[in-house]
Amino acid sequence: MSGEKKTTIAAEVEALAKRRGFFWPAAQLYNPVAGFWNYGPLGTAVKNNFVDMWRKWWVRDEGAYEIDTSDILPEIVWQASGHTEGFNDKQVMCKGKEKHRWRADILIEDTIKYEGRLEGKTTEELTDIIRKNKIKCPKCGAELGEVFVFNLMFNVNVGPTGETKCYLKPETTQSSVLDFPFIYRSQRAKLPLKIAQIGKSFRNEISPRQVFIRMREFWMAELQIFFNPANTEWPAYKSIKDFKVRILPANLRDTVEEPLDITVDSAIAEGYIPNKLIGYYLAKVQQFYEALGFDRKCLRFKELLPTERAHYSKVHWDFEIYTEDFGWVECVNNAWRSDYDLSRHAKFSKQSLSVFEDGMHILPNMYEPSFGIDRTIWMLMLHAYRNDGKRTWLALPPALAPYQVAIFPLVRREGMDEKAKKLCELLNKQLNIFYDEADSIGRRYARADEIGIPYCITVDGETLRSETVTLRDRDTTAQVRVAIDRLQEVIEKLLEKQLPFTKAGARIK
Ligand SMILES: [Zn+2]
Repeated sequence: MSGEKKTTIAAEVEALAKRRGFFWPAAQLYNPVAGFWNYGPLGTAVKNNFVDMWRKWWVRDEGAYEIDTSDILPEIVWQASGHTEGFNDKQVMCKGKEKHRWRADILIEDTIKYEGRLEGKTTEELTDIIRKNKIKCPKCGAELGEVFVFNLMFNVNVGPTGETKCYLKPETTQSSVLDFPFIYRSQRAKLPLKIAQIGKSFRNEISPRQVFIRMREFWMAELQIFFNPANTEWPAYKSIKDFKVRILPANLRDTVEEPLDITVDSAIAEGYIPNKLIGYYLAKVQQFYEALGFDRKCLRFKELLPTERAHYSKVHWDFEIYTEDFGWVECVNNAWRSDYDLSRHAKFSKQSLSVFEDGMHILPNMYEPSFGIDRTIWMLMLHAYRNDGKRTWLALPPALAPYQVAIFPLVRREGMDEKAKKLCELLNKQLNIFYDEADSIGRRYARADEIGIPYCITVDGETLRSETVTLRDRDTTAQVRVAIDRLQEVIEKLLEKQLPFTKAGARIK
């Protein structure tokens, strides 16, 4: 990822988010610690909407078992998973008085616009690059020392004397692996078994930045698929085989700029995607992001090179979203983790984690799409942001917007406010409604646009005469007149995109 260059869009959206209550730094009443964020009321609504949609796609439609697990796990879990040894950043400290610390790869990228790949470089190689390019401490100008490894997990000492060494989980995956045998037995399940989780992860990043791109505490939504490695045929594959995925295979990364736009069937035939199971899930991830409203041209899968992925990982595709400010941002990890996790926990717990099916003991393989929730929301907001010089609006898809409808009385008298409140009661059973009666109607429209409310309903003098309201469209500002007894149906159709706005009622100029 390219270095920090916060240009206007990200800065404007961040300011809007803080001003209107989407998100802000945790403990901002004091001096916030970088990398920790709170969702305000509007951000929480967007996140809940995202989670609802995620559950529909990845839990309900997939027939997964959803679990909810502890954030604190004992040291042995992380010894087994390899995190105590391998979950590191490569850092470098300056030799100045204040001993400033930097993440070596980011420091190099930011200072000399390094063209090659830094992922996978050893500490010696990174030290060498720093020496050769005479990179100094950006804060104090002092020499830099040798690059060293720093573990990113947060220690938690549990018990009255802190005698039990634990860690905040740096990924949610391990909890699904640990619970796999118990879910298999208690639910009388069979392979392939799918476990879904929405939960937090914690990483002691040295330089949190770019709002939700690098955080120290963040939300993940994950699906782990435990399957028999001898059977990667996938019945649901039929439904996506002709879907075009945008992929940048590892062996083409040096030669092509644009991702291939290729059907899953062809990608498998060409050997870019190893099997139908993985083909199916890559397609579903891209379809999900298209359903979230992203333009497919801003989406791609980048396959990691063997040197970039974990040694136990057979295949790893990063799903990325393009933004003007930050370039390509990884939002979903798609990794085939072989039987590594289960075999390690079998070894450390001295218990068999194989299952017995079809007359055989099988140690399942695991494949996971693992979604960054906060990153996705940040990308959604950046992509939704519009400013045409006259007004600002967030073109969020209705299903994700914090409110679907705003209701305004034109003035707070002549019974318009009472009528408007009655409409709220009518509509709020199905939808999130925003009610506002303060300031001019123009200002109220502007406020609604800025937080992404797709439709505004205004109760005015005409309403009292003819039982109709003004309905306004966020994206075009067009207005139509709709009869109150048709309102609920019209709004539902608009939200479902079953009705163009121009046909929703009588046009008002
Ligand atoms: Zn320094």
